[in-house]
Amino acid sequence: VLSARNVTKSYQTGEVEVKALAGVDLALQEAEVAVLLGPSGSGKSTLLNIMGGLDTATSGEVFFRDHDLTHSSERQLTRYRRDHVGFVFQFYNLIPSLTAWENVALVTEISRHPMKPEEALSMVGLKSRLDHFPAQLSGGEQQRVAIARAIAKRPDLLLCDEPTGALDSKTGVLVLEALLRINAELGTTIAIITHNAGIRQIAHRVFSFRDGRIADQTVNDHRITPAEVSW
Ligand code: ATP
Ligand code: MG
Repeated sequence: VLSARNVTKSYQTGEVEVKALAGVDLALQEAEVAVLLGPSGSGKSTLLNIMGGLDTATSGEVFFRDHDLTHSSERQLTRYRRDHVGFVFQFYNLIPSLTAWENVALVTEISRHPMKPEEALSMVGLKSRLDHFPAQLSGGEQQRVAIARAIAKRPDLLLCDEPTGALDSKTGVLVLEALLRINAELGTTIAIITHNAGIRQIAHRVFSFRDGRIADQTVNDHRITPAEVSW
């Protein structure tokens, strides 16, 4: 569903050029869960941002279905993000003055084929927390509200940058369970960046980054459940 070919990305900061991606090849299959592992600075977030149309490659090709992301205008990328991509980050970025339901409704109001906010919140196990404000929710619950917000527009692609990075193992498991349920029930293609190598075994496919390249790619024949992950 998404393919990246020989993708490079260089950042120029003053005199210094940083090569964040040095020729990445990666393909995500329709409806699969992929985990992206690798040391700090190896280019994981850079690639995720390019896949989601938040940033553009310096060279190479990136296609989502027939959308050519490397030859898209800013307007086309905005539409691509709006119609096809959901993002989840390490920090939840909820609006503190709005309830869980209202945080999700902000997105459903501007989407073309949205779920009801309560439907999205129910998918992540928060049916009983609709009227709670972020400060009244645990970190794991806030992250699940953020996931509900990301999936309420029914994206084809859900991109998660260290979604459990700020969570302990118990709440992290609930977040991962929510992601796998979304994949199973909606068929959403999901990419998850993590520093926790234990999480690799919940994925269909694992990409390992090193120095701006993918050093290794494996397919899991035997997937484990989030509850079985050792953190
Ligand atoms: P981490 O696990 O720490 O999040 P990462 O694998 O996500 O690391 P990236 O954030 O993709 O790594 O960064 C790759 C390299 O590109 C790093 O050397 C980083 O300093 C550099 N870089 C990333 N974004 C920018 C930017 N906007 N401007 C300049 N350099 C950047
Ligand atoms: Mg990163």
